Amino acid sequence: MRIEDSPKLDFSDVLIRPKRSTLKSRKDVDLVREYTFKHSKKVYRGIPIMASNMDGVGMLDVAVKLQAHDLFTCLVKTYTLEDIKKYSEVLNPENFAVSTGTNQKDYKNLVDILTKYPQISYICIDVANGYSEFFGDFVQKVRKQYPTHTIIAGNVVTADMTQELILRGADIVKVGIGPGSVCTTRIQTGVGYPQLSAILECADAAHGLGAHVIGDGGCTCPGDVAKAFGVGADFVMLGGMFAGHDEGGGTIITEKRDLGLVDPDTNEKIYELKKYMKFYGMSSETAMKKNYGAVAEYRSSEGKTVKLPYRGAIDHTVLDILGGLRSTCTYVGARRLKELSKSTTFVRVARQFNQVFGDGKKD
Ligand code: 5GP
Repeated sequence: MRIEDSPKLDFSDVLIRPKRSTLKSRKDVDLVREYTFKHSKKVYRGIPIMASNMDGVGMLDVAVKLQAHDLFTCLVKTYTLEDIKKYSEVLNPENFAVSTGTNQKDYKNLVDILTKYPQISYICIDVANGYSEFFGDFVQKVRKQYPTHTIIAGNVVTADMTQELILRGADIVKVGIGPGSVCTTRIQTGVGYPQLSAILECADAAHGLGAHVIGDGGCTCPGDVAKAFGVGADFVMLGGMFAGHDEGGGTIITEKRDLGLVDPDTNEKIYELKKYMKFYGMSSETAMKKNYGAVAEYRSSEGKTVKLPYRGAIDHTVLDILGGLRSTCTYVGARRLKELSKSTTFVRVARQFNQVFGDGKKD
C-alpha cells in the first residue's frame, strides 16, 4: 500500500485568476480550434465541446442541433445502421462519432455502420474502466481495421494509461473516472481521481506524444468547462449539462404541487406545475435494464437515475455555455480558445462561490 500525498484537485478547488487584457468584447473571442490527429492524420475544426454518448444526450436530434453550432456529438452505441440511415442526409460526418463497447455485438454494429457510411470518420470506444489489457487489445484491433479513422478511447485518469492507449492506436483519450453527475463509481468502489488533476496529467502525457484528450464528466456549469480547457483539455464532454432538453427525446413528466394558496377571486386552490425529465447513468440499473434487459448478477450498478428540471430547446443552453467560455477568455486576455490554457493561472480556493441564495444554478 502507498499513499500519494501531493494534492489532487477538482474544478471546485480552483478559480481562474483574471489578467490584464486588451480584448474589448466577448465577440472578439474565437472558440474554434483545429487539431490534426496523431494516427488518423485527419483534421478537426470546430468548437471542441462534445455531447456525451449517454441516453438523452448522445442522440441524433442533439447531434443535428449541436453541429449547427459547430459542436460535436458522440452518439449512443445503441444506434443501428437503420437509425443512422434516417439522418444520413442531415448529419455532417465531421461532427459526430459512432460509439461501441468491446463486445462482439457492439463491434458488429459499428462495422455495419462504417461499411455503409465510410465517410463517418470518428469512432468512440467507450468502457467504464479503460485499464484492462483486453481494452488495450481491442483498441489495437480497431486501429488495425480502421487505420485512417479517428479513434476516441477511454476512460482513464492517469498518464501511464493515457500513453498506453495512444500507443495502442487511440488519437484521443477520454479522461474521467467517477466525476460524472449520475455516476456512483466512487461510492460503489472507492475508485476515482479528482478531475482537474486527471485532465492536467493525462493532457501532459498525450500532448507529449502528439495526441489529444477529452475532459469527460464533472462539469456542472460553464465555468467548469472553462477550467477544463484552462488545465489542458483539447475537448470537453458534457452529459448532465446537455440533459433535460427536447432533443434528448425523453418523456416530460409534469408534477402538480399544492402551494397552499387560494385564488381570492375564484376561491380555487393554486397549484404549481413543474416539468421534469429523467436522466440516468449508462451503468445505472435503468440503463442496464433498458439495454440488456437486466443487471447481471456479478455486477452492481455504478450509476443513478435522477429527475431534472425540463429545460426546453438545447440551443439556449449551448449559447449560455459558449457565452460563459468567451467571457472567461476575455477575463484572461485570450483572443482564441487556443490561448486559454497558456493564459490560465489557477488559484486554489476554499470556497468557489457564494451560496447564500442557493446552489449557483440559474432559474
Ligand atoms: P457529466 O457531464 O454528467 O458530469 O458526466 C458525463 C460522463 O459521466 C459520461 O460522459 C461518462 O463518462 C460518465 N458516465 C455516464 N454514465 C455513467 C454511469 O452510469 N456510471 C459512471 N461511473 N459514469 C458514467
